[in-house]
Amino acid sequence: MIKGQIVAGVLAPHPPHLVYAENPPQNEPKSECGWETLRWAYERCRKNILAKKPDVLLVHSPHWQTIVGHHFLGLDEFKGLSVDPIFPHLFRYNYNVKIDVELSLSIANEAKEMGLITKIMKNPDFRVDYGTITTLHLINPAWDIPAVAISSNNSPYYFSNEVGQKQMMILGQATKAAIEKSGKRAVLLASNSLSHRHFTKEATIPEDMSAEHIYNHAQYLWDMEILKMMRQGRSQQALDTLSEFIDMASAEV
Ligand code: FE
Repeated sequence: MIKGQIVAGVLAPHPPHLVYAENPPQNEPKSECGWETLRWAYERCRKNILAKKPDVLLVHSPHWQTIVGHHFLGLDEFKGLSVDPIFPHLFRYNYNVKIDVELSLSIANEAKEMGLITKIMKNPDFRVDYGTITTLHLINPAWDIPAVAISSNNSPYYFSNEVGQKQMMILGQATKAAIEKSGKRAVLLASNSLSHRHFTKEATIPEDMSAEHIYNHAQYLWDMEILKMMRQGRSQQALDTLSEFIDMASAEV
């Protein structure tokens, strides 16, 4: 069998606004437009990703928070209605996601062998989080590629960023090992927000782009710094800076 590989990684912003603005049939609320810069970036990214013909899309979502360990969706299919708790007027999405259970179990196994606590989600009524759904929708709105969805251990309340990062590095090694054994072409989607500030008052029309702007310059500078490292391929420096970045920018990564 050919060795599997991670063919691409995507830093995938997950505001539900992007799906709202796209007006897919699955989302109940309808918009006029909005957030074009980011949506058109996704359009380009989607083309590049789908051209690589991935067998599986793997999502790390900070909105599936698990208290103990790293959890994996473990049934062939999950479907239901996902409602964003902060923006229920923008995101009520009827999802139906197909899971690559074989790969999920294999990553969980590798992770366990490397000393992480893991668990497989087998409750058919489990509601998949909106971070996973928005990311999968924006990269592949046809939903015709199976997914692997991994929870985020809810580390900020129990241990430091540094300890969390150490665990994520192990999870990454386990993921890579399982993908290589699978023979599959995988894309990793890091569902995230960099600096993370919500407006406390929403514009009367949510898609009124005259109200949408950066409002904390210090956090903007942090975002640009970390993005510059990634664009220039300074991955080790980005990793070394990650904990500080998370604190300074209230990042959700
Ligand atoms: Fe978020």
